[in-house]
Amino acid sequence: MLQQINGHSSGSDAQGRDSLREDLQEFLGGEAPLHQLDDLTRVNPVTLETVLRCLQARYMADTFYTNAGCTLVALNPFKPVPQLYSPELMREYHAAPQPQKLKPHIFTVGEQTYRNVKSLTEPVNQSIVVSGESGAGKTWTSRCLMKFYAVVAASPTSWESHKIAERIEQRILNSNPVMEAFGNACTLRNNNSSRFGKFIQLQLNRDQQMTGAAVQTYLLEKTRVAYQASNERNFHIFYQIYKGASEDERLQWHLPEGATFSWLPNPERTLEEDCFEVTREAMLHLGIDTPTQNNIFKVLAGLLHLGNIRFADSEDEAQPCQLMDDAKCSVRTSALLLRLPEDILLETLRIRTIRAGRQRQQVFRKPCSRAECDTRRDCLAKLVYAWLFDWLVSVINSSICADPTSWTTFIGLLDVYGFESFPENSLEQLCINYTNEKLQQHFVAHYLRAQQEEYAVEGLEWSFVNYQDNQTCLDLLEGSPISICSLINEECRLNRPSSAAQLQTRIEGALAGNPCLGHNKLSREPSFIVVHYAGPVRYHTEGLVEKNKDPIPPELTRLLQQSQDPLLTVLFPTNPEEKTQEEPSGQNRAPVLTVVSKFKASLEQLLQVLHSTTPHYIRCIKPNSQGQAQTFFQEEVLSQLEACGLVETIHISAAGFPIRVSHQNFVERYELLRRLHPCTSSGSHSPYPAKRHSEWPPHARGAILQPLLQDILHTLPALTQAAGMLG
Ligand code: ADP
Ligand code: MG
Repeated sequence: MLQQINGHSSGSDAQGRDSLREDLQEFLGGEAPLHQLDDLTRVNPVTLETVLRCLQARYMADTFYTNAGCTLVALNPFKPVPQLYSPELMREYHAAPQPQKLKPHIFTVGEQTYRNVKSLTEPVNQSIVVSGESGAGKTWTSRCLMKFYAVVAASPTSWESHKIAERIEQRILNSNPVMEAFGNACTLRNNNSSRFGKFIQLQLNRDQQMTGAAVQTYLLEKTRVAYQASNERNFHIFYQIYKGASEDERLQWHLPEGATFSWLPNPERTLEEDCFEVTREAMLHLGIDTPTQNNIFKVLAGLLHLGNIRFADSEDEAQPCQLMDDAKCSVRTSALLLRLPEDILLETLRIRTIRAGRQRQQVFRKPCSRAECDTRRDCLAKLVYAWLFDWLVSVINSSICADPTSWTTFIGLLDVYGFESFPENSLEQLCINYTNEKLQQHFVAHYLRAQQEEYAVEGLEWSFVNYQDNQTCLDLLEGSPISICSLINEECRLNRPSSAAQLQTRIEGALAGNPCLGHNKLSREPSFIVVHYAGPVRYHTEGLVEKNKDPIPPELTRLLQQSQDPLLTVLFPTNPEEKTQEEPSGQNRAPVLTVVSKFKASLEQLLQVLHSTTPHYIRCIKPNSQGQAQTFFQEEVLSQLEACGLVETIHISAAGFPIRVSHQNFVERYELLRRLHPCTSSGSHSPYPAKRHSEWPPHARGAILQPLLQDILHTLPALTQAAGMLG
């Protein structure tokens, strides 16, 4: 029995439709085998079960791409399928008169997008939103699309710069290994997991040639520099240096073979991503010369030594913590590599300066506890790494970005983290899921419009007025005047001591009226629940406000400004207004730029860009969490279909006309009904045109379907009777 998921019908009407659907399923069961159905909205009926069965059948038949209305579903093959991404195939899709008639593929989306930009009547910017959970294939897909455009939108001329003459497309492709080395890491779910979101704008001139690109990144997971969950790793680049450095470089960077670093867990595992040469080569092509590269790697080695600094508890609170025995050497080496004064480095890590008084002229020095020293050490590493990453992105941009006069349109590729729900969720998940809510709303608006247009072409009247989008959840997260974001920001602004339990109470008190704030009865730890479109998520409030403040002790910035290292001098110039974030004190506090407020601003900017484009969607799905080929776990896929909003798409399809039958099939199969129908059984005054469907005017083809369905509902009893008579 097929599972019924259409929650939008009501009463006897719904029951009638249910039985009709089952009946039709039986009748139409002999249609094309499931694995040959290229579009999920064409499975009959559109239910989760049929959709799952169709995807599974296709996956087992090595068919990895399936349309779902205006979305493309991409299943991760978890095995090399080179023939699927060959330049020949790219050209085939590019040359096809109607690429949408070819098998579903990311190249269909790529080509459609490319043609839309080219449309002479209305050149319009395009975007491709690639979503899915970690390891589902988003980055792979974006990379393949970039390669596709590098082939079909190749520029005729080469660039002559930094002594390397090469095509701009190659340069743009080179940005991938560099950004992945610095921004990707091995996690439990993906050996090459991107720890940042990315929007890349491929810039095209009037002749449709790619003249440049611009990259925007979101929310780098900088905590990974100083903290890696068990069985996970730090960013790839650290392992690349550690394993790939030459003898000479090992000496320069103080990385003797066999040295152990607490921020470099699991170094014995070798991944294909650990390829230092590829990163160096790509950096060179992007204009980052060898001395600059060596400077970067030396600073990173300095961070590894910083991570080995250990403090012991101080017996006397008035005295700074002592260093553990083997940590003295780490302080010295770290200071040497970062070109910082060793004594000031140690003092900054162990002593907090507090400024007070009206003019903040009084300075107090307070020794930090061991835990505070550890936090300051980690904060220093995160600060350097985050600024280094941003600097690298800006260098990449200056290397690949075209002169604004040389391009007229763009194709944007968005590769962002999908919806996340872990046993413990914090600010990171809140930001990620907030992004996904915004993208989902954007998608639903677009999808509904596409459906309405399709119905209009068919001459069908339908309104989705009953469809609830996720605005209520967004109101809870970002609405005005009070929302979860505003309450968390408020706590940061007031800078008052506030417990995790108090934050929970405030959220529950102020937002109790919003149905998307879930009931939080069972948890022992302070938390709140948000019912997202993809499911409920419990967010723990412990440490949330502190994370949102992301405080950088001003002494740390001042310390880095004293560095003699050429790279750190660029990252932390001495102009205090530019970088120093003084501790708030007294009445005149500057507005606090919190993680949430910065993130919200960049998200709004992104959505503005997306709104100005025609969007296309690719939903990546991981058929199993073990990364195995030919293995399809229905439960796992189902939860992803939910998380990537595909279930919503199916619901919307079901809220419209869930069953789609070609007119020819329909009329031919139900010819019998026409004869059984009380009004037409005499055969003399049929309400339907006698002509074959192909001869009907287009508007009548759709319009006829609705009364026909109504009639079938009336005729079903007679049909059942007839079936009984046949035995
Ligand atoms: P995400 O960015 O969604 O976290 P990735 O794009 O990094 O996931 O993909 C995870 C891994 O899955 C890749 O490293 C690769 O091994 C495999 N993979 C993904 N897509 C494909 C594909 N189309 N063909 C072959 N392998 C793939
Ligand atoms: Mg990725």
